[in-house]
Amino acid sequence: MGAFFRKIAGSALLSALLSAVPWVPAHAVDVRAIRLWASPDSTRVVLDLSGSAQHSLQVLKNPDRVVLDVAGAHLASGARAAPAGTGMVKQVRMARRPTGEMRIVLDLVRPIQAKSFLAAPNDRYGYRLVIDLGLASGVETPVKVEHAPPDARDLIIAIDAGHGGEDPGAIGMHGTREKDVVLAIARELALKVNAEPGMKAVLTRNGDYFVPLRDRMRRARGQQADLFVSIHADSIRDRRVDGSSVYILSQRGATDEASRWLAERENASDLIGGVSLDDKDNVLASVLLDLSQSASLSASQVAAERVLRQLNRVGEIRKPQVQQARFMVLKSPDIPSMLVETAYISNPQEELRLRSQPHQAKLAAAIHQGVHDYFYANPPAGTRVAQLASGAAPRLTLAGGGAGE
Ligand SMILES: [Zn+2]
Repeated sequence: MGAFFRKIAGSALLSALLSAVPWVPAHAVDVRAIRLWASPDSTRVVLDLSGSAQHSLQVLKNPDRVVLDVAGAHLASGARAAPAGTGMVKQVRMARRPTGEMRIVLDLVRPIQAKSFLAAPNDRYGYRLVIDLGLASGVETPVKVEHAPPDARDLIIAIDAGHGGEDPGAIGMHGTREKDVVLAIARELALKVNAEPGMKAVLTRNGDYFVPLRDRMRRARGQQADLFVSIHADSIRDRRVDGSSVYILSQRGATDEASRWLAERENASDLIGGVSLDDKDNVLASVLLDLSQSASLSASQVAAERVLRQLNRVGEIRKPQVQQARFMVLKSPDIPSMLVETAYISNPQEELRLRSQPHQAKLAAAIHQGVHDYFYANPPAGTRVAQLASGAAPRLTLAGGGAGE
């Protein structure tokens, strides 16, 4: 019988049989897992698939729900049943339709906008069907925030915990995930920044969810951040390598980004250093952008040096100079930005240290001290820190020195 089956498998007869019977799709795809990630203003639903699949998505009302049909899909044996609802999803229901589709219904807590796309395999995941649920538009427009009276505003420090949600970042030999340790360090840093007069921290993510890189920048710009600090603990092939590094955007990365901003300014009402590019001719816009980028890059360099100096006191630093790279998240043309590799999670000793709360606090304290030193040496006009630095108000002294420079 086995031989007979092998003989007809793949034959025209079998194909004909299968296509004649619509509820047995010829190219079934397994749904291996359904994962949900909630952020404060969006929820992402990810289906891990064994292969490419056709799908359709409908957003329905009364009650609010999203109906997703995936052609020829089965729930893989061993896959868990519908996950619990989270964020904007009240509950997940699944059913097999007689026409061969797997139907997934997401019951919603409120009306939303939905979009879906099939993501190609990468080094971490296979095919994924991604459904993004968000509030009606809004996300694309930076929110202008009045954060202090004009006579003395607070400095806004955007703190960006790398990765999150479906993107765990690097994973150490003992299973430590970068996304978890960098969030812990980012939160610790935010506490320290908020405890300091004249400074306010904003976290680009404050939970286990993924925020696209451009949205991280957009959030920082929406808050009119004075500095952007991205926190990472990536891995490196050579497990012996340890120590901290601090990166700023390379000149090449800045040039690429400038072209993009100029190309897109038609449909963006973005401001560069407080000047709108919208109504400027090409040459003027490019000069303004260039000035803003050069100013941001040199400020980034000086701020990054201060942070690197403080990290050197906590432990090893990998290289004594600030490094340059084309990290997307550093590309805001008008916000000084740096990326801190706190340590390499690929090094087993560093991995263990990264898990320790006291060590996380030490790293956060070093970054905070560096940021503090930078702003006291270069206080932006009109800020409370400018008053404090000039002695117009009582000065704060922090442990570890450097406050009075
Ligand atoms: Zn990372």
